[in-house]
Amino acid sequence: MNSAVVIGSGAGGAMCARELQGKFQVTVLEAGREFRPFGFNLGLVAKLRGTGLLFDARTIEWIFPAMRIHKAGAGMILASGHGSGGTTTLSTGNAMRQDGALRKLGINLDEEFAELSREIPVFSGHQKIWRPLTASFFAICREMGLDAQAMPKMGNHSHCRSCGRCVLGCPHGIKWDSRQLLAQAQKNGARLLTSHRAERIIHDQGRARAVLVRHGPRKKLLAADLVILAAGGLGTPRILQDSGIACDDSLFVDPVLCVAAEMEHCRQDRELPMPFAVQMNGYIISPYFDHLSFFFNREWRHQAGNIYSLMIKLADENRGGVSGGRVQKTLTAADRERLEGAVDTCAEIFRRAGVDKSRLFFGTLNAGHPGGMLPLTAAQAKTFHDPRLPENLFVADASLFPTSPGNPPILTIMAMAKRVARICRQAG
Ligand SMILES: Cc1cc2nc3c(=O)[nH]c(=O)nc-3n(C[C@H](O)[C@H](O)[C@H](O)COP(=O)(O)OP(=O)(O)OC[C@H]3O[C@@H](n4cnc5c(N)ncnc54)[C@H](O)[C@@H]3O)c2cc1C
Ligand code: SF4
Repeated sequence: MNSAVVIGSGAGGAMCARELQGKFQVTVLEAGREFRPFGFNLGLVAKLRGTGLLFDARTIEWIFPAMRIHKAGAGMILASGHGSGGTTTLSTGNAMRQDGALRKLGINLDEEFAELSREIPVFSGHQKIWRPLTASFFAICREMGLDAQAMPKMGNHSHCRSCGRCVLGCPHGIKWDSRQLLAQAQKNGARLLTSHRAERIIHDQGRARAVLVRHGPRKKLLAADLVILAAGGLGTPRILQDSGIACDDSLFVDPVLCVAAEMEHCRQDRELPMPFAVQMNGYIISPYFDHLSFFFNREWRHQAGNIYSLMIKLADENRGGVSGGRVQKTLTAADRERLEGAVDTCAEIFRRAGVDKSRLFFGTLNAGHPGGMLPLTAAQAKTFHDPRLPENLFVADASLFPTSPGNPPILTIMAMAKRVARICRQAG
């Protein structure tokens, strides 16, 4: 059987591994360790806020190795998953089809989305566990004529305990993440190598020959007939660049800014995050307790149980890049203008909830949906293969998006990964 090496075990990598195993003998390389949910008591971590130990968001990996924080320009931080399951383990489980830009290129993923709807449980009937304040924010949005809709969630959320820890890894096994695909791939014979970082692809004469892998202090070469690169929107461009293959400076990240207020006993910190969302032109608004800002931003000085926060998630312009492992990304003038409009909308929602603008405070500008540096084009609509790549090297992650969805991308990344796997199966 021909061999395939899949780099990365998140949304795209795990899907490709599951779909390719059997036709290929698959080895998945994952730089991080086996995922474990954050195990610490959040009340104790909150007490650390006053000690000065939580001075930099990057220190989160000391207590939660599955999360990595990268600094981008202008005070923005990027969060990503680093362990089996990639960033899907940190997600809030939102399931949204986001293939509008792909359709414009002539890419029809209907079949893949239909398969996904049969494979992954999605639940939207969680209104009965919303806290009263969330229900009233939902009503206010509707009164304002905003199209607030309950968020479809990947997993078995009819049993959700509303503990609010989704982004720290669901401790109750409710939320779906891509480790389920990895388990299926492994059951069918695939090999998962955690703590194995792919450094570069060895290629010549238009073909990938092997992957150079680091495991602790040791390096080794892993020969492959097929290589799937799914190390995420920041990891994939880095590996390509280190392999002598340039990407585009078209990074998007979907910046997130939380607008918050003190609202006594609202307990949003113990509630299913992003229970509903309002789709606006170029951004979404959704209730979200921002743990990173609570731990690391001095503006968030109130008790966790007394903070209510609305997240703005922006569809940013795809300008920026990764170079030598450093992320360069700042907001453009158009991004800032859209963000200011979104803040005004949030302020109006809070005003109607009885909170004056002067009482609002902001979270740290952050982002968790990097992608777009090897964007699909209309010419690649059938092949899903960029001509810059060796013929047996495919990318299957968020790097493929032509523009920022500004919305949860996991479902669409998995649909694209399914298509990549289908193309490889047919060719192999
Ligand atoms: C807090 C948070 C909440 C989110 N919530 C949602 C949500 O509700 N719904 C949604 O659709 N999206 C959500 N997202 C975004 C979503 O999780 C990511 O966009 C998605 O997982 C990206 O998939 P991917 O396959 O591109 O990469 P990832 O899932 O990030 O997987 C990449 C993997 O590659 C590994 N890797 C990197 N470099 C190497 C290397 N050199 N060698 C080997 N392995 C490597 C990484 O460790 C990682 O495990 C959220 C993101 C964050 C940060
Ligand atoms: S709120 Fe808690 S129980 Fe519900 S999905 Fe998130 S982590 Fe799991």
